[in-house]
Amino acid sequence: MPHPYFLHYSEEVQAQVTQLIEHKKLGTFFKSRYPEPHQIKNDKLLYEYVEGLRQQYLKNTPRVSQAKFEKRHNMVVNTLGTHTFKTTRHGHKHKTSHQIHIAAQLKYSPEAILRALVVHELAHFKEKDHNKAFYKLCQHMEPSYHQLELELRLFILMCETEGNTNYI
Ligand SMILES: [Zn+2]
Repeated sequence: MPHPYFLHYSEEVQAQVTQLIEHKKLGTFFKSRYPEPHQIKNDKLLYEYVEGLRQQYLKNTPRVSQAKFEKRHNMVVNTLGTHTFKTTRHGHKHKTSHQIHIAAQLKYSPEAILRALVVHELAHFKEKDHNKAFYKLCQHMEPSYHQLELELRLFILMCETEGNTNYI
């Protein structure tokens, strides 16, 4: 049975994933592919990182108001990161709040994995659904987005099964 996180991938990918899971090799996989974790360890650095990517690729969108690492108990791919985009009225002015929350487990991930999730959440400010336009936007920000989304799923799975100390 393929793991539910990988249902949309080819049989070949699913077979490789099963091997990594069965032999508890996910930590080893990440260590050899990405020897060092990123250094974005607090909310201030995360904010600069997120806002930097937005300024570079999504110039005509409002500034990000807040970016935060948040503890998650249930890490499911779709809730790993969340974005909220709210417009509230203050008198005559409209204030837009543009927030991104990232699962705290990603504090200890390779930079590429964090980038994949940030790109994903930023893309949602323009496209709500996971449609073609959404993935096009992700690829605009990160040309290897599809490969990295697969690795992001693997990283989550590692946190759930081996604990992320296997990577650090
Ligand atoms: Zn999404």
